[in-house]
Parts: sequence; C-alpha cells; structure tokens
Amino acid sequence: MGEEMSPSVCPMCDGEIAGPGFLVDAFRSKGRRRWGVRELICEPCYRTGWLTVDGKSVTAAAATRQRPGFVWYALVGRGAEQPAEPCAACGRQVVRNADPLLKRVTCSHSCSTSLTRSRNGGKGSGRPCETCGKAVTTGRADSRYCSPACRQKAYRQRAKKSHA
Ligand SMILES: [Zn+2]
Ligand SMILES: [Zn+2]
Ligand SMILES: [Zn+2]
Repeated sequence: MGEEMSPSVCPMCDGEIAGPGFLVDAFRSKGRRRWGVRELICEPCYRTGWLTVDGKSVTAAAATRQRPGFVWYALVGRGAEQPAEPCAACGRQVVRNADPLLKRVTCSHSCSTSLTRSRNGGKGSGRPCETCGKAVTTGRADSRYCSPACRQKAYRQRAKKSHA
C-alpha cells in the first residue's frame, strides 16, 4: 500500500483513531434528515458503548452511543467479535463481528465502492487487449480492453458486423 492514509477521526469523540477502527452500524442526522452509515469509531468509544461482562458483550446505556448528529448501535455483523483485519481497499485495520454475508472487510462506503469499481485493485486482467494485443494493466480484473478507445473500437466493429 503505497498511498498515504488520511488519519481516521472517530465520529464519537473527534479523536484520531490510533489503533484499529471498530466498524459500527450507525445513523447520522442533520435537521430532519437521518441516514444509515457504517463508520469506524475508536476502541475506547466502542468499549464504552458495548461492555464485556463475564465474557459476553452487552450494550451499555444508549446515551454512551450517541451525540448530536450521530448514533451507533453495534459492531457490524452478527457473530463474535473478530480480530482486526485490513480493509481490502485501503489497508486500514478494521474490527467487526463474524458474518457469513460479509465476505471482505472494508472500512467505509467509499472503500467498498472503490473496490467494486476497480476489483483487482485496478490492476487489470494482465491478458492481452482484445483490440490491440497490449497487456491490460488498468481497470477491473475482468477487463478485456486496455483503454476506452480500444473498447470503443471493438464495439464499433461488432456493431458493423451485426449490420452487415
Ligand atoms: Zn472515539
Ligand atoms: Zn478502507
Ligand atoms: Zn488495446
């Protein structure tokens, strides 16, 4: 990961998240608008809102999980708390619960969309471009063309053939 990570700021305490971030289901609100988010909070804030009692985690008072404009409920996922894993897009350490529906770990909405857009980290398929034969080194893992120009060319050729 060569890219510089911008420091994450915990939305509960406004402090920088020093260790792994705890990915929680939350709501943000502004005026009458309220929308669901998944965000990282810092470990001290997480441990304040969910307590461990006799090895089981239990919710603390609701007041410990909210502030104006932000309220969180629980760690993402249904199973047991997992050890920190790196976000598949940016590498930031993320803690969440086990869940068979959550295949990959991402730290934020923007990371999961960037991952969907570029899959293979934007490194392309490595196969030769179907138009010009150069290796495909950008875009998704299933990219067939090296560039938008080649994709266009192929598309025009297909269109021509289907009209012939
Ligand atoms: Zn915090
Ligand atoms: Zn990320
Ligand atoms: Zn090409």
